[in-house]
This record gives sequence, C-alpha cells and structure tokens, in this order.
Amino acid sequence: TDPALIRNFCIIAHIDHGKSTLADRMLQLTGVVEQRQMRAQYLDRMDIERERGITIKSQAVRMPWAAGDTAHVLNMIDTPGHVDFTYEVSRSLAACEGCVLLVDAAQGIEAQTLANLYLAMENDLTIIPVLNKIDLPAAQPDKFAAELAHLIGCDPGDVLRVSAKTGEGVEALLDEVVRQVPAPVGVADAPARAMIFDSVYDAYRGVVTYVKVVDGRLGHRDRIAMMSTGATHELLEIGVNSPEMTPADGLSVGEVGYLITGVKDVRQSKVGDTVTFQRGGATEALGGYKDPKPMVFSGIYPIDGSDYPALRDALEKLQLNDAALVYEPETSAALGFGFRVGFLGLLHLEVIRERLEREFGLDLIATAPNVVYGVTMEDGVEHTVTNPSEFPVGKVADVREPVVRATLIAPSEYIGAIMELCQTRRGVMKGMDYLSEERVELRYTLPLAEIVFDFFDALKSKTRGYASLDYEPTGEQAAALVKVDILLHGDKVDAFSAIVHKDKAYAYGVKMAAKLRELIPRQQFEVPIQAAIGSRVIARETVRAIRKDVLSKCYGGDISRKRKLLEKQKEGKKRMKMVGRVEVPQEAFIAALSSD
Ligand code: GDP
Ligand code: MG
Repeated sequence: TDPALIRNFCIIAHIDHGKSTLADRMLQLTGVVEQRQMRAQYLDRMDIERERGITIKSQAVRMPWAAGDTAHVLNMIDTPGHVDFTYEVSRSLAACEGCVLLVDAAQGIEAQTLANLYLAMENDLTIIPVLNKIDLPAAQPDKFAAELAHLIGCDPGDVLRVSAKTGEGVEALLDEVVRQVPAPVGVADAPARAMIFDSVYDAYRGVVTYVKVVDGRLGHRDRIAMMSTGATHELLEIGVNSPEMTPADGLSVGEVGYLITGVKDVRQSKVGDTVTFQRGGATEALGGYKDPKPMVFSGIYPIDGSDYPALRDALEKLQLNDAALVYEPETSAALGFGFRVGFLGLLHLEVIRERLEREFGLDLIATAPNVVYGVTMEDGVEHTVTNPSEFPVGKVADVREPVVRATLIAPSEYIGAIMELCQTRRGVMKGMDYLSEERVELRYTLPLAEIVFDFFDALKSKTRGYASLDYEPTGEQAAALVKVDILLHGDKVDAFSAIVHKDKAYAYGVKMAAKLRELIPRQQFEVPIQAAIGSRVIARETVRAIRKDVLSKCYGGDISRKRKLLEKQKEGKKRMKMVGRVEVPQEAFIAALSSD
C-alpha cells in the first residue's frame, strides 16, 4: 500500500469511557466484522478482559475506509488502558501518527485521560478530541467539550461527538481520522526497520509479534534480527489482522501487521525492540527499548502443598505470554514451598493470580504485596530486597523505596478528603489545577508502598467513587523504614514480616498481634504473640492455654464417639502448619493476610 493512503491511529481513553465499544463500531462500519459475528468488545479476547471490561493486551486491526472517493487503509491499535501497562501503551502510541482521545460525555476528563494524553503528546501524535456516549440522558456535551478544548488548546467546536453504542457520529469520525492524521513517513529503500509494539503467545502458532514497519520492507521468508539481543529468526509468516490473521507477502513503510518466527517465548520478541535484517540490516534501533521492571512482589503459595509442581508449570506457561512476569522459588516456614513473583503493578498481580486460579485450577495464598527496597549497609554493601522477611539485619545506613508521581482528578468538594488521605500515606503535594469550575486535578509524589495496599479502595470510598487515579514511577527516595516481625511463641512468622515507616510500625504491630490472637486456636500451652523491631518488642498478645484435652469430654465411656473425635482432630491437623512448636490452621494465615 502507498504510505500516503495509510492512517495509523489508536483510541485512548480512561477506563470505561467506551474505547472498546467504539472499536467495535469501527469494525462494523468498515465491514471487517460482519454483523452476525459481532459481539461486544470484539478485540478484548482474554476471558478476564471481557469479564472485567478492561483491555490488557493491545491489538491492531486493519480496516479499509473510503474517504470521499479514495480508498484508504486504517490501522487501529486498541491500547491497554491501565496504569500497570504504561510502557505497552507508549509503544502502541509510538506505532501511530494520530490518536482519538475519547472522553465520556457524562464523566469528563479522568486521570487516565490525562496520562494517555501526555503519552500521546510525547509521541508527537495528532490528537482528535471526541466525546462519547452522547446518547446518555446524563451527557453534558457542551460542558465537557469546553473542558476538553481547554485542556488540549483547541476550539470547543473541534471536539467531535459520538455514541459508540448507537454508532452516531462514528462515520464522520473515521473521515476525520483520514483528514487529520498524517500519513506515515519512512525510507522505502533503506534496510527494513520495524518496531515491536506487542507480542502474544498463541498455543498453536507460537509467539505472534505485532510490528509497525518504519523503513524498508519485511517479506515472507526473510531472515531477521532483533536489535536488542541480536537473536535471529526466519519469518515463517507475515501478515495483517483484519481482524483475523491474514497472511501477506510482506509489509512495507507505514504498514502495521504481525510476524511469526516459531519462537515460543515472548521474551524473545520484546515490546519496544526493533526488527531488522540479519544481513545488511539497519545499525540504529528505533527509540529506546526498555526492559519491563517488576515494581510489586508477592509470595504465592499453593494451599495444598502437592500443587507446587502444578503452580510452577502454570507460572512457566504464563511467562511465555508475559515478558514482565518474573518469579523464583521461595520457602516460607508458615506457608511451605511457593514462589516470589514480581509484577508491574497491582492489576497485573490480580490478573495473574486470577488466571492461575481460574485457568489452572489452583487454590493459592498470596502474601501482602510489597515493593522493592534498596538497602545500603554501613560497610557499603548494597541489598535489593524483594521479600520483607529478607530485610537485612545489622548496621543499616540507608533504606530507599520507590516513589510515584500520582495524578488524582475529582470534583472539587473532595479536595479536603483527598489531601487528608494522601497526607496519611506520606504524600507530598506537587500542584493543583482546576480543569473546570467544579473539577480539580491534584498532583502528588507518593511512596509506591503506600499505594499498593488498598489506596485505591480508600480513595474510592472517600470520594464516593468520583475520584480517578493514575501514577507512574519516578525513582526512589530515602525513608525511615523498619522491618516489623511477628513472633509466635518466640518464632518468627516469615509471611507476616513487613517493611513499614517507623511512624506506622507500632500501629501495624498492634493490629497484627490482635488479629492473630483472634485467629490462632488455643494450644496445650500459652502462646505469646509479639510484634518486634529487631529485638525490641512493640506489641504483645497472649493466646491462653487449654486446660483439658479433647478426649476428657468423653468421660472415658463411649468408644465410637472417642474414635470419631480423634479422627476429626487428625483431619484438622492436615491443614495445620507448624511455626516452631505452635500449630496454626492454614485458614488463620489466609485470614491474617487478607486486608482489613
Ligand atoms: P473501555 O474500558 O474504554 O474499553 O470501555 P468499554 O467500551 O468497555 O465501555 C464501557 C461501558 O460503557 C460499557 O458498558 C459500554 O456498553 C458502555 N458504552 C460505551 N460506549 C457507549 C455509548 O456511546 N453510549 C452508552 N450509553 N454506553 C456506552
Ligand atoms: Mg476496553
């Protein structure tokens, strides 16, 4: 295809503003998906995506569109909308020349609208502002058109209005995409360079890599090289999604499509990497490739210890499709054999956990999520801590924790509530802007550790669901952090060790000790529960001893009753874990690890 006739664009929006529904309408209007095959959110293929109504992996679809008399090719890239996947979003954007910035006409601008807009601006994309859901009775298109126009600096009359649900205005939007989005430019006779913006594992075909060709041409059977690793492959298949995979001879300047090389692991086909020829290839990669970096860790254990090999296999399989997932074996005195797993963020963690449980049928316990700490000892030795129970003891000179830049948007009546919440989470306010008379944007620097644990829920409840949040990592800060250990009868329960700010350590210790006292059954002897920082005990509770053993209730008489009781006791023991001399039912650990 002549690059002059190609338009590469994406739709960016806050979650639930109708991106996937709009994509559906476009697929229908351009005729690539027939009416009878149409189902809602066609592009959201993963079960979890469909159920939660979120888009995790991006997808690209090629659609024909005649604007006036000229046939054009539109490549639409549906981006993941969530904070955890910012890097993937940014690569999807880098594959486009323009974007549709979609805003719910009943909600207005939200935190991820802004985050995505900034990413689009960084990538120099042409931005087409669009209000969606104008069919809703609660829509306030004039008000939000003004808000949007003010934000991006255009005329309110330039803001398009559509209903992705009814299709109203969507044809006009496609015409505007052709009119406003620049055609891709590249050097046709240069060695091929293509940017990878997505790669997915398919059980039948291996890894399917999505690329945009920037220069030159990639053809069927070409030998290619990945510029970040130098790994070489043969192109077994090349083609376009329309919306199912359709093989082609090749892809040239400006075209978006997929490659299949037979590799089985997405880590061999990394988002952000540049594809070129093995021989006579380009020497300079496109843009900076970034390795995904896990930000949040959690210990994941099978409830039934014999599921450990199944858990390992499941993680291995998921990693084939998820270059950002990292894990290593870990042993816990309280929970047995499991894995320490690293995630991009909380949603990533939840999605992986859910997939492990649902797709692989595993029952799991996860420890409270923690961030990665940097620790420098007085003798200069550095530690990277991904498991709180491994926090070094001894002469610690300096502890660092990751921080994020957070953007919160809410109706102005909630400013006080948000400021109070951020304050208790050790936030530092960086700025505040009014988007309109009654809506405000607050900017904060916050420790990531304070966000990973129930921040979002707290925010929602304090603002009756009206606030939205987006954040991105911005580095590290030194902080007065300490490790709080929980001891049962003098033995540490590794799964409960936590790194907390020293001002919060006491409250944490008191809360955990009290919680465990409720959960741990009485034993033959008295069991002290202590919270301690190093050797200093900061909270203490006691589980009193039981006096009589279980058989004394039988008065020596009824044999069958006695046997029944013994069996029942044995049954119960199976799910008991020993912490030193103390028997703890696994349920107690699970309950203690759940938030609240
Ligand atoms: P996404 O998260 O941005 O992909 O949003 P979805 O496309 O999944 O839409 C979120 C919800 O809004 C779904 O329940 C859609 O049915 C609904 N929705 C999307 N567009 C419209 C619209 O134009 N009008 C109305 N009334 N509802 C819409
Ligand atoms: Mg979606």
